[in-house]
Amino acid sequence: MNAPKTSRLVVGSRNQKKLNEISQLLEPHGIEVIGIANFADIPEVIEDGDTFAANAAKKATETALAIKEWVLAEDSGLSVDALGGAPGVYSARFSGEGATDERNNQKLLTELADTAPEKCGAHYTCHVAISSPDGAIRMTEESTCRGRIINEARGANGFGYDPYFLIPEFHRTFGELSSVVKNQLSHRARAFQRLTPRLVRLILGNS
Ligand code: IMP
Repeated sequence: MNAPKTSRLVVGSRNQKKLNEISQLLEPHGIEVIGIANFADIPEVIEDGDTFAANAAKKATETALAIKEWVLAEDSGLSVDALGGAPGVYSARFSGEGATDERNNQKLLTELADTAPEKCGAHYTCHVAISSPDGAIRMTEESTCRGRIINEARGANGFGYDPYFLIPEFHRTFGELSSVVKNQLSHRARAFQRLTPRLVRLILGNS
């Protein structure tokens, strides 16, 4: 299978804030990110895997087969120690039908209401998978970022659980840290730091 001939890469996500972060991570390397909202009639991928890896691979493969292009997909989420790793792969829909970031955060705080602050350790995970147009997974990478859940929102940057996710070394949440800093430290940043050299060779090496 030949590598893509242009520097554009389709990312299998409709989450604009996630797409913005991925764009910021890849644009300095000459890769333009296109979200799947730009394509008509792409079937919704059911994320029914038990792991971030399974869901990322499914999103990448099904989207690539639907549009016959190279596709990068990532699955990410928050795992809280005191909740046995929840919400994990259910992070986006933690509060059930019609979940929003606000409702998910409310549920998180409710579930942690009786947990001592020092027991609120947590990590984000990001798994990235890249599929060729024939649906074969050609590259993967996974990274984590460790922090702690606090019980009141701080800052309005980022998305999802970020206002409650404290990076102890910085005394700031991802909601308070700038995108420049988040894009150095985060689970997503770390996964892309490791993946990007190979991705650039794949995409730009053949253009
Ligand atoms: P996905 O789009 O199915 O991978 O779901 C990712 C979900 O995990 C998001 O909707 C957020 O709830 C959470 N999440 C993943 N990465 C982040 C992040 O960088 N900040 C905050 N929440 C995140």
